Amino acid sequence: MKKRTFRRLGRVLLALTMAVCLTAAELTPALAVTQAEIDKLKNEASELKSQKKNLQKQLDGLAGDKAAVLDRRKKLDDQIETTGAQIRNAEAQITAYEGLIAQTEAELADAEQREAEQYELFCKRVRAMEKRGTVSYWSVLFKADSFTDLLTRMDAVNEVMDADQKVIDDLKALQEEITQKKASLETSKAEEESAKAELVSKKKELDQQRQEAIALVKEIEANEKEYQSTINALAQEEENILAEALRLSKKLAEEQAAQGKPVHSNPGGYIWPVDSRYITSTMGGRSSPGGVGSTNHKGTDIGRVGYTSKIYAAKAGTVIVSQYSNSYGHYVVVSHGAGNTTLYAHMSSRKVSVGQYVNQGDVLGITGSTGHSTGPHLHFEVTENGVRVNPLNHGANPKKGYLTGYTLSGSA
Ligand SMILES: [Zn+2]
Repeated sequence: MKKRTFRRLGRVLLALTMAVCLTAAELTPALAVTQAEIDKLKNEASELKSQKKNLQKQLDGLAGDKAAVLDRRKKLDDQIETTGAQIRNAEAQITAYEGLIAQTEAELADAEQREAEQYELFCKRVRAMEKRGTVSYWSVLFKADSFTDLLTRMDAVNEVMDADQKVIDDLKALQEEITQKKASLETSKAEEESAKAELVSKKKELDQQRQEAIALVKEIEANEKEYQSTINALAQEEENILAEALRLSKKLAEEQAAQGKPVHSNPGGYIWPVDSRYITSTMGGRSSPGGVGSTNHKGTDIGRVGYTSKIYAAKAGTVIVSQYSNSYGHYVVVSHGAGNTTLYAHMSSRKVSVGQYVNQGDVLGITGSTGHSTGPHLHFEVTENGVRVNPLNHGANPKKGYLTGYTLSGSA
């Protein structure tokens, strides 16, 4: 209260069907064939040929639409990545503003403390002057009874004024510092608010993009017959990826052996690639999501990971693939020796590049739902001796060094 009164006083003082109809030619049995009829048939044949050609063109166009769906999905994943980066940027800005605001507030409190002290000093001087009876310079000067007395009094007043002027100048500087800090605090708070508003709008945008991306994959699955070629292409892509990964792991192991580096290809010894232990789909046959048809599931799906969980290297090794595919989205393959690889798919972002050596537990990327995926999960694949193996330690013959302690979806 007292401090505030002093300060106030100080201020007073200082101023986002096609239908095809094939009309078959009506071939009426004729007893006598005339040239005109032949010509008519020829015409019809020509017409059929033209229709067929046109049909093929439309089918090609349809295939093009399917490819466009995948293209659209890829573009959406790209957008999602960009939006994610914008979100991380806004979050970093907010953190920075928070730090700046805390710092400015501390500096402001310090300046206010110094101002109070300085003002107190000023008041002491005024009190001392009161005691000496020199409370008013003017009254001191007016009391002069002669010119000599006036000069003597002016000298005494100048001395007091110089000392007081320093106290007053310091006080003025402190008050200017406080005014500036308060203004910069207001600016920082306003900028933090706009970064927060940006974050909210970007998160909403990200959510819409994710829903749109998932809707596209669901569209492919719901229109399974129409999109069969797309589904086949995705499955083929997965097989090509496996073949390429095995080729690379073999090549890498040969290079490493040539360089005299030890090549580890001992089975097992894996750690969980995410913190979640919730298995939504095991390796082998399963119904495809949406209950339409079935696919031979090539990996182990780990759910309850959201879009922000870290994905760890299940075993130490060298990154041999880090890229985007229509089936796996953003995915990474690590080689642990010839024919021994681990694959991590549907990442929202990848954190490693080809050629990089990773220790067991190192972060490879962040979970997501990119590629052929209808929700965030980690699709994890393990190959040993060039074939896919089930990394889960379950069944009658538990294997040492494989994944344990999980919960299967539906069992809990
Ligand atoms: Zn999967």
